[in-house]
Amino acid sequence: MIDCLTDDRLREVLHRIWGFSDFRPLQREAMHAVLERRDSVVVMPTGGGKSLCFQVPALIDDGDVTEAVTGSRRGFALVVSPLISLMKDQVDGLRVDGVDAAYLNSTLAPSDRDAVMASLRADRCRLLYVSPERLVGDGSQGFRRFLAECRVRFVAIDEAHCISQWGHDFRPEYRQLGRVREEFGQASLHAFTATATERVRRDIVSELRLRDPQMLVGSFDRPNLIYRVLRRNNLHRQILQVLARHQRESGILYCISRREVEALAEWLKGEGHRAVPYHAGFDDRARAQYQDDFLQERADIVVATVAFGMGIDRSNVRFVVHAGAPRSPEHYQQESGRAGRDGLPAECVLIYSGNDFQRWRQMLEANGELTDSSRALLRDMERYASGTRCRHRALVEYFGDVYTPAPCAACDWCLNELDEVADGTTVARKVLSCVARVKQSWGLAHVADVLIGRANEKITAAGHHALSTFGLLKHESSAVVRGYIDQLVEQKLLAREGDPYPVLRLTGAGTAVLKGEGECLLFREVQPPAPKRRHGRALIAPTADPDLFDVLRSVRLRLARERNVPPYVIFHDTTLRDMADRRPATVDDLHDIYGVGVKKAADFGEAFLAAIREFEKPGR
Ligand code: ADP
Ligand code: ZN
Repeated sequence: MIDCLTDDRLREVLHRIWGFSDFRPLQREAMHAVLERRDSVVVMPTGGGKSLCFQVPALIDDGDVTEAVTGSRRGFALVVSPLISLMKDQVDGLRVDGVDAAYLNSTLAPSDRDAVMASLRADRCRLLYVSPERLVGDGSQGFRRFLAECRVRFVAIDEAHCISQWGHDFRPEYRQLGRVREEFGQASLHAFTATATERVRRDIVSELRLRDPQMLVGSFDRPNLIYRVLRRNNLHRQILQVLARHQRESGILYCISRREVEALAEWLKGEGHRAVPYHAGFDDRARAQYQDDFLQERADIVVATVAFGMGIDRSNVRFVVHAGAPRSPEHYQQESGRAGRDGLPAECVLIYSGNDFQRWRQMLEANGELTDSSRALLRDMERYASGTRCRHRALVEYFGDVYTPAPCAACDWCLNELDEVADGTTVARKVLSCVARVKQSWGLAHVADVLIGRANEKITAAGHHALSTFGLLKHESSAVVRGYIDQLVEQKLLAREGDPYPVLRLTGAGTAVLKGEGECLLFREVQPPAPKRRHGRALIAPTADPDLFDVLRSVRLRLARERNVPPYVIFHDTTLRDMADRRPATVDDLHDIYGVGVKKAADFGEAFLAAIREFEKPGR
């Protein structure tokens, strides 16, 4: 079906402009859909390479256009994007690659806007980014009339899940995008999103009135991400252990509340880290400043609420730590997915406590958002956290996909970081009998305290210090015992029932195990191996020569500052690593380096080649 000629042209552009040698999964199909003017919905995980699916075709002229219709204009692709920062980022990146791209939004000065309009009139622009308000909002008729005089080749709608109420990021202004179909009747529509659920997909198709769209749904697994889940016991220590594996690398630390954001950011600064806070309570200026600090690599860690993230294109985020559980697996997938967009290894650590879910229920209740579906999502999240199987599998299956690799070699389970308890069934019976002894009317924390033999006031008042199960697990820490209880809930031997103060009850299966029927496996966390330190250098994805890599990083930073763009717009880490490994000597050699297109080789090549030559000088 897919013709080879078109394929060759796509590959040529991919290599010449972007310096990539091949397509990522589904990119080829998605690009063909654009060139064939067939509507499409493309669902790919974050970092999958959605933007190239419309950027590459936008640079390939469609041969069969009759002059009569188009006035021999090449035309441009219209890209609808919800976030101003994202637009600017992509356009900056395209321009550095030598592509004629522009954006129109409310931040542009009138003179800049006129310049963009002039370039459109003169047919000098290949991609135009606009916000949905700008395109279909009230009062945008004039703009649409103007566009009708130009030639819009196709319309790409980024972050298309914003159109669906079932998405995690519904935006009312996206609803009006239904008008696009009427306004640009001949242009094909192409929707892109990383949100996978079937319902959201159906919404996109119907709201945008897509015609027989090609559905291209990628795999949801992110093989380069290592997932770990820790029960929260000493948060600071647990965070520091993660950071020790990522010295001088960057990451995001998500918190549930604004107060926690500020406290943890202050603490990290005190520990000598370059950290900034981010939440919706800061004014626009402060938020823009903190975000910019992170993007421009003046800060390594951003401590944030969920308000941070959408539109963050920084590709070398090496870790995402959740200091509390998010409210759904969808949120977890989105937030943790901000790690490792460049495809290099990155780590996602969820540090949670059973309490987090209770807190969410209260917060959702207070906002009038505690519905059946939000409760169900919280339970799903709880199931992931206390799950006792491969995390990759758990996430992929949650999103309705099939997961084949086993073991994944990239999660705490498959890396054997959780030890099987020698006699799990006996330990489980101890826990279950304690629940029975306290008459199935106490919560998790209390039962754990009884088991470890902590004679606090509540326990003595209830007389539970006199129970035979008091101190039955006195050699274990509270976190470990709570972990066991979670696992028994997950295995449906115990149930947590009641709102807002759930108590532990025995299920039928739990009663059976207590009576000596059936077996039970329990696990306990062990820490991931401590990093071997090499001059305080990062350990993930080592290069042949980390010193050279650092030199190249500083060249990149200098070029970025000169041009006032984020460093990753110049080159991704992947490119610098490839350079450090292969040490190109000429501009020609550079063309073989991952991610170096013709324009970048011409503009930046000499600076990097000079740095490599200098580095190789004997006696340096
Ligand atoms: P998404 O929008 O799906 O999150 P992006 O379009 O930002 O992903 O792409 C993620 C990263 O992958 C970017 O650094 C991009 O340059 C890179 N990338 C995209 N397509 C390819 C490809 N075919 N080969 C190599 N790298 C690619
Ligand atoms: Zn696994």
